[in-house]
Amino acid sequence: DAAINRIAAGEVVERPASAVKELVENAIDAGGRRIEIAYADGGKTLIRITDDGCGITEAQLPLALSRHATSKIDGSDLLDIHTFGFRGEALPSLGAVGRLSITSRVGRAAAASIAVEGGQMGPVKPAALSGGTIVELRDLFYATPARLKFMRSDRAEAQAITDVVKRLAMAEPFIGFTLRDVTGGGEGRVTFRAEAESGDLFDALHGRLARILGKEFAENALKIDAEREGLRLIGYAALPTYSRGSSVAQYLFVNGRPVKDKLLVGALRGAYFDYLSRDRHPAAALFIDCDPHLVDVNVHPAKSEVRFRDPGLARGLIVSSLRHALAEAGH
Ligand code: ADP
Ligand code: MG
Repeated sequence: DAAINRIAAGEVVERPASAVKELVENAIDAGGRRIEIAYADGGKTLIRITDDGCGITEAQLPLALSRHATSKIDGSDLLDIHTFGFRGEALPSLGAVGRLSITSRVGRAAAASIAVEGGQMGPVKPAALSGGTIVELRDLFYATPARLKFMRSDRAEAQAITDVVKRLAMAEPFIGFTLRDVTGGGEGRVTFRAEAESGDLFDALHGRLARILGKEFAENALKIDAEREGLRLIGYAALPTYSRGSSVAQYLFVNGRPVKDKLLVGALRGAYFDYLSRDRHPAAALFIDCDPHLVDVNVHPAKSEVRFRDPGLARGLIVSSLRHALAEAGH
């Protein structure tokens, strides 16, 4: 019910950027090839995600807003998680703390929409849409004044949204992303755009990293491609001579999910130990992919921490393959 949703929302949605993360992950899960994200006033008054993915049928619309309704898992194997979403919590949570509306269309069926406000679901209505899904979240936390107080300036929240979108875009180089600030209405202003990359995975990733981290990173990046006992590691790691001063450019992903994990950050640092002085941070974008049974992504609702079944294996893979690449490059 509404109260439970509001409590769950506190865990899933901390700020506009966490709402953006959930909604963009849904768009990715839906197979979207072009995803547009618009926000106003740092996402506080409006967040709108438009995708060209599979859509939601009219009959499924109310279900998508129901607690623990997810189309992504059948409940038989909680560890077998291949998509981002697996809790069915995001949409009901967002509907409990903001004014949420979903408009969607599947194939040639008619488009439909549904709205939920303060946890109260409205009727499914006919709508106009050529395909895919538009999710709109207005007035986040309007019903929870305590949370409103904790939001930072529009500028800071917009920055957090941009970071989230860039991280997700990094892991999905074949998907096109557009981020727009529509404060004040109208078309707004494009603040980030990455066209869908082409070529093989490494070409695409390299192109996307150049777009997000800059040409200089891409030109100074070593290709990483290694595997050990079912753990695959790919990505790019910067030469020790590439310096971003004191700023940290470390992007780590497990099964496509952006993570901030102590073990992985420690491994990255360990790999560069002989090459970088203590006050400098290695720059890298690394992707670990493995069978979902080898890693637990269910540690925290915000889903940014992971637990490997064999932490030593993950650490060893990173340290040895990065050191190997650095040595090959003459370091
Ligand atoms: P989860 O992602 O954990 O399944 P959510 O609450 O985020 O839970 O979404 C509930 C369901 O709504 C999803 O399982 C999916 O079936 C549907 N859904 C949500 N967003 C989209 C989208 N953009 N396109 C298609 N289906 C969607
Ligand atoms: Mg989801």
